[in-house]
Amino acid sequence: MTALATRPKLAVWKFSSCDGCQLSLLDCEDELLAIAEGIQIAYFPEATSGEVEGPYDVSLVEGSVTTPHDLERIQEIRAQSGLLVTIGACATSGGIQALRNFADIREWIPLVYASPEFISTLETSTPIADHVRVDLELRGCPISKAQLVETVSALLNARRPRLPSTSVCME
Ligand code: SF4
Repeated sequence: MTALATRPKLAVWKFSSCDGCQLSLLDCEDELLAIAEGIQIAYFPEATSGEVEGPYDVSLVEGSVTTPHDLERIQEIRAQSGLLVTIGACATSGGIQALRNFADIREWIPLVYASPEFISTLETSTPIADHVRVDLELRGCPISKAQLVETVSALLNARRPRLPSTSVCME
C-alpha cells in the first residue's frame, strides 16, 4: 500500500442499495471528526452537496451493479480511484436484490412496475468485484461502524486495517 498524499481525497459512491451503509458512515460523526482534519471529503452526496473533482485517493462503494449505467459508472470510478473499498453486503455479494439472479427478471418487471417500458435493468445484481479490481471488502448488512472507522483511519495512515477474519455470526 503506497503512502497517501497530504489531505487525501475520500469519495463515497452509491449503486443499487438502501443507503444503510452510507448512514453507518454518517453515524460515525464523532469518530470521523477525530480524523477529519487529515481527510478531504471530496464526493459524498448523502452528506454534502459540495464536490471536488477526482482523482480520489480512497473510494468507498456501496451497492451492487444492476443497470447498464452502473456498468459504465463503476469502470469510471475505478479509473479515478487509488484504493477502492466496497462496503456492505450489496457491494460485496449483490445484496438482497441478487435474489433476482434466480428468476427471470423479464417476468417480474411487469408485475412490479406500472410502466415497465421505463425500466432499464440488467438480468442480474452482481458484486462490484465482478466488474473491477477491489482493494478491500467490508462485509455486513449494514457494515460495522468500528470496522469502517478502523479502515478509514488505516488507509489515511497508509497501514493495513486490522479487521476480524471471521463474520459477526462467529461471536
Ligand atoms: Fe442497505 Fe444492507 Fe445494502 Fe448496506 S448492505 S446498503 S445496509 S441493504
